[in-house]
Amino acid sequence: MSARSAAPEASLPRLFLVHGPTPILRLSALDEIIGTSVWVKRDDATSGAESGNKIRKLEFLLADAQARGARVVITCGGLQSNHARATALMCARVGLRSILLLRVPDPERARAAPLELGGNVLLDRLAGAEIRFVSPAEYRERGAMLEQARADSEHRGVRAYIVPEGGSNGLGSLGYVEAMREVAEQMRLGLAGDGRPFDVVAHACGSGGTAAGVALGAAHFGVAHETWAFAVCDDSAYFTRTIGRIAVEARGFMPSLPELAFAEPGRREAGAFGNAAAARLVVDDRAKGPAYGTMSDEQKRFLVRVSRATGLVVDPVYTGKALFGLAKAVERGEIARDAQVLFLHTGGLPGLLAQGEELREALG
Ligand SMILES: *Cc1c(COP(=O)(O)O)cnc(C)c1O
Repeated sequence: MSARSAAPEASLPRLFLVHGPTPILRLSALDEIIGTSVWVKRDDATSGAESGNKIRKLEFLLADAQARGARVVITCGGLQSNHARATALMCARVGLRSILLLRVPDPERARAAPLELGGNVLLDRLAGAEIRFVSPAEYRERGAMLEQARADSEHRGVRAYIVPEGGSNGLGSLGYVEAMREVAEQMRLGLAGDGRPFDVVAHACGSGGTAAGVALGAAHFGVAHETWAFAVCDDSAYFTRTIGRIAVEARGFMPSLPELAFAEPGRREAGAFGNAAAARLVVDDRAKGPAYGTMSDEQKRFLVRVSRATGLVVDPVYTGKALFGLAKAVERGEIARDAQVLFLHTGGLPGLLAQGEELREALG
């Protein structure tokens, strides 16, 4: 694995983990379901078992870990975290150990029972990751929890590197700035859209790093006029703060990036949010469903319909909700029927495979 230098603006160490450029597909049956013209950027196909959006961030984060001489990487997420799984597999590839702090409702009970080896958890174990269960209360203080784990490791003489939840900090978000550079090049080659910038680039948002990188990169490279981030947890207020902070960090690495301007759904008037050169970002928290990782019956039926009509598989935690939210935004007239939309498919297949029972009824 050679560490080459990234974009000239950001001469940062970087590993090349993504098999890219990932393809951009046009599926006419999907246009019918969504109600507008949709191109799908297949970041669910960034690689093999480690696939999804997280490895774009890990290109920068794990290179930083190596540059700092770390031997173990510590990160956190839900039990079926795609991010934890991608981190565990990529750490194994580059010769780092990994410790995953995974949230479960009742850690005592989880420790007493045999580990359920499904979906991402199976891949975590295959990668040799050390799994530690944490409670929802501990997880709320995840910054402190990660710091404590690092201190414990360093106390034992093992240099540790913290990758924050979702790989979402300024450095990680550069993976998505770079992804937008990749899309701009595909557009230039006639492989996506009709040559003009997309009206909207849309994706699922869980920890904010993808949204920050996509919004900044899409504006910087002329990929889209507006980014829609569909929250799958928390709410718009939380993500406005979080993504705002990540974007400030990202500009610290790459000062040529624009400012972020948060916009309301469906309000496109120029000047309504001041700075025309800014990266417009809508955080839409209306499609997050009953809870993180849980879909409404309507969302489940939608997910099944998408697969049956198009062969495209979306997951119940992230991409299924985002695509559902996109369809709703078109239905409400907030995104025009003649709009050109780039939907970023961010992955999540192993999480889907761990939710077969939940989907039984919707499968009919
Ligand atoms: C993590 C994840 C997201 C959300 O990305 P963030 O950068 O955490 O907001 C979307 N889709 C999938 C499949 C993911 O695993």
